[in-house]
Amino acid sequence: MTRRYAVASALQLPSFLRPAVADEEVGNLAGLDKLPDDSGSIIQLPIRFHLVKDIEMVKKGVHMEMWLTPRDIEQTILPEVNRIWLPAGIQWISESIMKEGPAEIPDREEVVRHIAAATRGTPDRTKKILSLLDQKNRHPVIHNLYFVPFVGATSQGFALSGGGSDLSGNPDGGSRCVVGVWTDKPSGAIRPPQKFPLREGLPFKIGSIARTCSHELGHNLLLQHPDKDTQTEFNRLMGGRRPGYELTSEEISLARRVAGGRAETILQWAK
Ligand SMILES: [Zn+2]
Repeated sequence: MTRRYAVASALQLPSFLRPAVADEEVGNLAGLDKLPDDSGSIIQLPIRFHLVKDIEMVKKGVHMEMWLTPRDIEQTILPEVNRIWLPAGIQWISESIMKEGPAEIPDREEVVRHIAAATRGTPDRTKKILSLLDQKNRHPVIHNLYFVPFVGATSQGFALSGGGSDLSGNPDGGSRCVVGVWTDKPSGAIRPPQKFPLREGLPFKIGSIARTCSHELGHNLLLQHPDKDTQTEFNRLMGGRRPGYELTSEEISLARRVAGGRAETILQWAK
């Protein structure tokens, strides 16, 4: 198949993608252009980034706060996410980057302590993390990627798949994912958490923060983890044995169908 990549022109953000209210809003870069066709052309999907500030999580003496900046997202993370997704012909565009506080919930201190102490098996871990996210800044249809300090021992992020993992019942996938900017995965939670590397050269060790963002966006596009026992392709973005940055042709095909479904949803919503 010949894949052609349209050169992304400098697009003016359509009014329907402009954020409503933001505490601090940094930059409207571009927006959705038109529906993708079947020719392998680029599918553009807007993301609203949320930097969740004013939460401090303490673990093993480390005080974990938001250290990521809008500049890190624009100059380092988004370009790398787009390098990772280029083989799929999917281009992510920053609709806006919001710096926001946590949701006003009565038991916030308790929830924050719960998350700092959580492991992957702790009940309600992801539910409690979601309860910390302020819904008023969430975009109703485009992807929302939230950065929080920490998402629990050995975890680096999670994603919602929306209406289920099956394409036929859920043609546009999920639209929310969460990434922690501190991690203790490299030591298996034995050592204190460290800042997630903003960049990582090869060979793959922890992976960069952009890799985790790309992985979680992959889940939003209904991609699953490979089965470690039966996989034959390695260095994969979606994990498995010897993980890395690559997408298989099956994953590209599924992700493009779901991305096309999301683009359709956005255009319908905007009408
Ligand atoms: Zn995953």
